[in-house]
Amino acid sequence: MNMQFGTTKGRTPLLHPWPYEKPSPVTLVEETQTAYTKRPRKRSQASHSMPRELSHPPEKKPLMYILETRGLRKVYGNEGEVCVHALRGIDLQVRKGELLAIMGPSGSGKSTLLHILGGVETPTSGQVLLEGIDLATLNDDQRTLIRRERMGFVFQSFNLLPAFTAEENVALPLELGGMSSGEARRRAVEALRLVGMTHRRDHMPSMMSGGEQQRVAIARALVMQPAILLADEPTGNLDSVNGRQVTALLRRLATREEQTIVMVTHDPTVAAQADRLIRLRDGLIEDEAQSEASSALSTPAPRSCLFKRTV
Ligand code: ADP
Repeated sequence: MNMQFGTTKGRTPLLHPWPYEKPSPVTLVEETQTAYTKRPRKRSQASHSMPRELSHPPEKKPLMYILETRGLRKVYGNEGEVCVHALRGIDLQVRKGELLAIMGPSGSGKSTLLHILGGVETPTSGQVLLEGIDLATLNDDQRTLIRRERMGFVFQSFNLLPAFTAEENVALPLELGGMSSGEARRRAVEALRLVGMTHRRDHMPSMMSGGEQQRVAIARALVMQPAILLADEPTGNLDSVNGRQVTALLRRLATREEQTIVMVTHDPTVAAQADRLIRLRDGLIEDEAQSEASSALSTPAPRSCLFKRTV
């Protein structure tokens, strides 16, 4: 799949493409719901407020799934035109700290699914729940906020700003959100540490290998402490050595940092590192398999290439 969110195939363009969305106060959140209650309300409730359940969070219950879809369908085409049924009923549950790989032939619906999970496209029917919040209940501003603060995006092409250092690139989403430069830089260094790139913090993208650039791009996604990282062919532009390093990093982030990751890949060796693999065909989950090593999520053991079919 050779694409990026909201940019190709004549899709609806992003209203506020990440990470260069219109600035608004950003609080790095440990808990989405409490953060929303703390945020000062600068605008009218109508246009920029969280729904009632977010501003008055109920008793905290541990969420079973970070991300869930129910009966997700997507039909392209208007009345009178030939319709394309890109998704035909996807039920998916993703647990915290899970690394989920999505594979499938071209046209099977992988991009459409990733775009809908990322709130970039809306489903024709069905639900997407992120941390228990139904994205369909949010208005555009709220969806933008959730995308910026609770979702991280990693693309095949790293999309780093060429005139900025690694540290500046990583700090940028925070600074755009209104965080002081000092604090944003401190957090950027921390995110670079997570991806093993502190030694390159002052390097420009052109001075880094593709793999290093991708690790910086991952740090940029992580700096917002997202609930979920959505990765679209994260190793698609890398040679095998760099690809292996980036895959190992994603594996480590899931295992050690409990970072939930959903990635689309066409590479079976990348998918083999996942806890679970789903294969799409014609807009449906054709096959689902659990890694035999995934029962020990907290153990950084080498992943088995053997998957056990679950459907
Ligand atoms: P994949 O990522 O697996 O290649 P896609 O999600 O891009 O698959 O596409 C699934 C189906 O939906 C394909 O038949 C594709 O042609 C169709 N499709 C995707 N985007 C659009 C669109 N914006 N308008 C019409 N059809 C689309």
